Amino acid sequence: MGAETPSRASLASYTGAARAVDSAAILGFFAAAGANVSRVWALGMEALDGATAAAICLGYLASDLGSGTVHWFFDTWLSARTPVLGSMFVRPFREHHVDPKAITRHDFVETNGSNCLATAPVLLGALLLDPSSSIAAQFGVVFLVALALGVFATNQLHKWAHADEVPPGVRWLQCMGLVLRPEHHSVHHRAPFARHYCITTGWMNPLLDGLGYFRSLERAISALTRAVPRAEDAAIT
Ligand SMILES: [Zn+2]
Ligand SMILES: [Zn+2]
Repeated sequence: MGAETPSRASLASYTGAARAVDSAAILGFFAAAGANVSRVWALGMEALDGATAAAICLGYLASDLGSGTVHWFFDTWLSARTPVLGSMFVRPFREHHVDPKAITRHDFVETNGSNCLATAPVLLGALLLDPSSSIAAQFGVVFLVALALGVFATNQLHKWAHADEVPPGVRWLQCMGLVLRPEHHSVHHRAPFARHYCITTGWMNPLLDGLGYFRSLERAISALTRAVPRAEDAAIT
């Protein structure tokens, strides 16, 4: 293992500064999500129609696609030592491959802070829309809020997929396939360690793996940048 290769100890650091950022991000997430939900709620029950249900489903589906794309990106490119992004996003994914159970030892702030930060543009974008102005704007706000809530839940659902014990309600959701199932996610942790990146529900994994979605993106990025996918993994092994 070379001097520049991240060790398990170096990956395990979670600084006080990172915790402060995560804590602020969680507070900001609940404030922005609550503001958006209250604006839709103010429209009254008659506004909660089929289009609203479709926007919720599409937002949840989009969060699964987003989880897979972001997970793939930070598994495949950059380094745990990349400024800012390395400690906030790359480190948790790389640590997870070294020690898959570590995520189950993270508290609420460490588990969910980074995803709250990631949803900031989504929730701020929703706040720029006036849900009372048109059906399309209402659909957009509901979609973006459902997307943000799905992204927020992702790390927690991923953590539960690795936990030895989960609350009965969570087990039921897993059995129903409404959230990430441990058996489904275990595929990601088996060779070649480059499948089933989606970790909110996993619903998108069969489609994306079947289409070769991530391999196509890797070929395109390598052609453009000459970067090697999973170069840091190759250095470790
Ligand atoms: Zn991974
Ligand atoms: Zn995992």
